[in-house]
Amino acid sequence: MKFESQVIHAGDRKRGGPGAVPSTTPIHLSSTFFYDSAETLDRIFGHEEEGFSYSRYANPTNEALEELAATLENGHGALATASGMTALQLAFQAALMDRPHKIVSASSIYGATIKLLDQVLASFGVEIAYVDTCDLEAVERTIAREQPGCVFMESISNPLVRVGAIDKIAVLARAAGASLVVDSTFATPMLLRPLDLGAHIVVHSATKYLAGHGDVLGGIIVSDEQHHAQVRALSRVVGGNLGPFESYLTMRGIKTLAVRFERQCQNARKLAECLANHPCVERVYYCSDPNHPDARTIQQLFRPGMFGAILSFEIRDADRAKVMAFMNRLKLIVPGSSLGDVHTLLLYPVMASHRDVSPKMRERMGIRENLVRVAAGIEAIDDIMADLDAALRGSM
Ligand SMILES: *Cc1c(COP(=O)(O)O)cnc(C)c1O
Repeated sequence: MKFESQVIHAGDRKRGGPGAVPSTTPIHLSSTFFYDSAETLDRIFGHEEEGFSYSRYANPTNEALEELAATLENGHGALATASGMTALQLAFQAALMDRPHKIVSASSIYGATIKLLDQVLASFGVEIAYVDTCDLEAVERTIAREQPGCVFMESISNPLVRVGAIDKIAVLARAAGASLVVDSTFATPMLLRPLDLGAHIVVHSATKYLAGHGDVLGGIIVSDEQHHAQVRALSRVVGGNLGPFESYLTMRGIKTLAVRFERQCQNARKLAECLANHPCVERVYYCSDPNHPDARTIQQLFRPGMFGAILSFEIRDADRAKVMAFMNRLKLIVPGSSLGDVHTLLLYPVMASHRDVSPKMRERMGIRENLVRVAAGIEAIDDIMADLDAALRGSM
């Protein structure tokens, strides 16, 4: 089945009891499940028979979403979690379970993930080494030097939209006996599928494109057989599961993922083209740019004709105050910190995602004071562009 059909049909319409089958998955709010005989429950607790007993272990609504996510990412199994950060924490713990407690991580990653690594995992004795995952030789050297149990990267970096060669890094990680974990929130399974490229675990903040409407906080972990068993075993103990209502909303959101993301990618591409010729714009960062430093990798890994829905641009001669004034002039675009929603969102990295990064470090990362990031929504492109244009020209 093609992706566009999987998003609508996978996971739904289970034949449960006798009689009518609901056409969409019901919300099962029950924390506990029982059977007509104690012997059945005994077999379920003993893993001799499959079935629901307690919602920290499994819940029918969550299970429908998990089957859908596992199908879309072509994994063995999935776990729906309370947030993207919970998904990352469980993924790292599962990846390190039988391996050296060392992680080689991409240096350009989501801010809270850096805190998870440097503050939370490091306090449990996990060692972290950072590397530019767009520099394959540096990755090879770092893996050889560190002998990590886990390699971590994002499929598209924030906010400069760099793309590392997941397939080649997977070969290096596997040769060293390390698990490759990929946060693919920005790409969605429509653009690329990390497990097909050799990763062991793929993680999403479902808060973004998967749920897609700015009304859910959630995460997803999709893994190969071995890692899925470890993720499940962990979550049986620590919980962190997504609630059934949020699972339902996420599943409802995913049904339109293909049409939403196609439109968002189209809008982002048109925005990138318009902004590149705008007098108030110094530079645009977008994956369709033929001069993009990772153009070859993008061509090899992305679904043809699609380049993602995130772009960044530098406003000409703008300092922090001018960027803030520009943001205050926006009327349609939401100046919020998220991405992947049906409405277009604009984020100022210096104020939000990279606030805690020192100015010197930011300079080295290439994140300048005049850089803003746009997550294209599904509105009419003319309205999005008119809003940006008016806000940009307001300062001329
Ligand atoms: C938002 C985000 C996260 C964190 O997800 P939450 O759902 O907010 O916990 C992790 N990684 C990336 C790339 C994100 O954009």
